[in-house]
Amino acid sequence: MTPVIALVGRPNVGKSTLFNRLTRSRDALVADFPGLTRDRKYGNGLLGDKTYTVIDTGGISGDEDGIDAAMAEQSLAAIDEADIVLFLVDARDGLSPADQAIANHLRVNQKKTWLVVNKTDGLDEATATAEFWELGLGEPRAIAAAHGRNVTSLIDEVLAPF
Ligand code: GDP
Ligand code: MG
Repeated sequence: MTPVIALVGRPNVGKSTLFNRLTRSRDALVADFPGLTRDRKYGNGLLGDKTYTVIDTGGISGDEDGIDAAMAEQSLAAIDEADIVLFLVDARDGLSPADQAIANHLRVNQKKTWLVVNKTDGLDEATATAEFWELGLGEPRAIAAAHGRNVTSLIDEVLAPF
């Protein structure tokens, strides 16, 4: 069985950048503005002798109230399809109300969820992750998707049960 990893989070936190790194594909859209990736996108990756599938999503809006408004259907669908959810937040922006709304949904979801703090390049990891503990999703994991910082070690841990 090939585990399926869903990447969820607000626009612009770095989901597509991480998707590209995990799948090494050149065709996932990465842009400097939110909301470019409108549909779910699937890619396959390989780490050691383990294959996995990654789902990129673009549809969680950061500026609406309530989890029903904030979670687009495609993100909920991706979570349903996944074995593992990587919830990305942005170390540069810090904790936002939209992050809280998404976390509230993920906490009651049955899927194994990892809280991933992206864009920690140039930052102290402990300082960059500190405020995200309050999301109640366990230890926030520092990465820099654009530079590869901690990405392989994280995915190695994520895939360990599979
Ligand atoms: P998405 O909307 O969540 O898919 O985010 P994108 O992957 O499109 O990235 C949004 C912006 O964040 C782009 O300008 C990326 O270059 C930038 N970005 C992504 N990962 C990192 C990172 O690790 N460090 C920094 N400094 N910027 C990043
Ligand atoms: Mg994207």
